[in-house]
Amino acid sequence: MNDKRLAGRIALITGASRGIGRAVALEFAREGAHVVLLARTQGALEEVDDEVRDAGGSATLLQLDLRNGDKLDALGPTLFQRWGKLDIVVGNAGILGPLSPLGHITADAWNDVIGINLTANWRLIRTCDPLLRKSDAGRAIFVSSGASSGAHAYWGPYAVSKAGLEALIKTYAQEVERTPVRANLVNPGGVRTAMRAKAFPGEDPEKLPAPEDVAPLFVELASPDCALNGEVIDFRSWQAEKKASAS
Ligand code: NAP
Repeated sequence: MNDKRLAGRIALITGASRGIGRAVALEFAREGAHVVLLARTQGALEEVDDEVRDAGGSATLLQLDLRNGDKLDALGPTLFQRWGKLDIVVGNAGILGPLSPLGHITADAWNDVIGINLTANWRLIRTCDPLLRKSDAGRAIFVSSGASSGAHAYWGPYAVSKAGLEALIKTYAQEVERTPVRANLVNPGGVRTAMRAKAFPGEDPEKLPAPEDVAPLFVELASPDCALNGEVIDFRSWQAEKKASAS
């Protein structure tokens, strides 16, 4: 019997070239999923591909800029032709954008943050929804942030994009409530990645959880037996509960 929790599942992960997305892709591959790795940087995707193989898994690389709406819209039909379904989608790719007063933000910078962090995830759902419904247990997981509360000066575009993302995924969760599809969000909190270092350059990264620490939460939400729907799971609370139940 195969005891890997994602054995035979097909999983698409955006932003899989580094950071949280890379760690989630590797953990999914270790748990038996075939991972479709999406990002812009081909060299970094190839490195993750090597790591997936070293872990005994298999990957398909998808070099794509999420700002390219036409290419993103073609993703669902492409995946359908190859596999006829999609079991897991992880909408993880994101950018921080400028940390500036609202009055100093250019329209281009605003459009980039909203385009990548929010609009691309709506397009991702639109193109993947029919495929998730073809799975026996389609799972959609999106990555939010504590910034979604909108209560931090200078974090405007990022905060608005994540607040919108939470509304988007909670809406989708309602729409799939009567199907086997489940949709949830993760708030990872501070994690040791390039984005975090850009946001908090003076911080000691060694004091933060590594992306690998967060990845098991994604496996839980991606598993066919996950019953949660429309929830925002806070990584640190989840981790504290795990530790408490293990002791
Ligand atoms: P990261 O290390 O900067 O990685 C971001 C990923 O997104 C990269 O793989 C990047 O790949 C991809 N990406 C960015 N723009 C893209 C585009 N236009 N098209 C396709 N892919 C694109 O960031 P991270 O910290 O792992 O963040 C992952 C998610 O967690 C984000 O949604 C972030 O908002 C969220 N988050 C992170 C933290 C934290 O402390 N790290 C906290 C809260 C929330 P390419 O550059 O190769 O395209």
